[in-house]
Amino acid sequence: IAIENAKLYEQLQEYANTDGLTQIYNRVFFQNRLYEELTRATKQGYEVSIILFDIDDFKIYNDTYGHLFGDTVLQSIAMTVRESIRKDDIVARFGGEEFVVLLPHTGKETAYEKAEELRKKISELVVCDSNNSVVKSVSVSMGVSTFPTLAKNQLELINSADEALYMAKKQGKNCVAIAEPSETNLNAEA
Ligand code: GH3
Ligand code: MG
Ligand code: MG
Repeated sequence: IAIENAKLYEQLQEYANTDGLTQIYNRVFFQNRLYEELTRATKQGYEVSIILFDIDDFKIYNDTYGHLFGDTVLQSIAMTVRESIRKDDIVARFGGEEFVVLLPHTGKETAYEKAEELRKKISELVVCDSNNSVVKSVSVSMGVSTFPTLAKNQLELINSADEALYMAKKQGKNCVAIAEPSETNLNAEA
């Protein structure tokens, strides 16, 4: 019974950490892992980067091809990213059509290169509906930020990546932008 209970607990835990549609981690799991990672990074003095990204013009896809097609797009992107990251990196669904990648031991240049690689892979995806009748490509815009180089804490890290993502959208979408150093970081440099 103890073994059965342990197994059940593990399954329940996994279920609670997973996004139902895409089968990658959910936002709560990501936030917890990020907290742990930043705590360790502070003690050991290494960098942690995140890539926050959002599907371009997703509303049009949903409106044109239907929500089921939209769901398939979300699943395809999740699978593509999961297969393209290292063992210690994680990808999570951050919100509706937003995802986040956590890259421990990674500075901003490497994170930017990784983001570019993922962006390209996603833009090369071909998504079909259940009848194989709709074949479409999608793109994403990405924001990169790095602890402690560009952001001093968890909140700043997410907010600055979000601002960078917004810049990428403004620059015309299907591209990657790096966060500006936060006020605290700028003051530290001065
Ligand atoms: P932008 O390029 O500026 O990001 O434009 P957008 O159309 O992607 O942005 P907007 O925020 O207007 O639309 C997001 C859409 O994502 C609307 C919503 O219906 C869709 N969406 C969110 N979650 C899901 C989901 O689980 N399944 C499907 N099919 N669509 C979803
Ligand atoms: Mg969005
Ligand atoms: Mg969008």
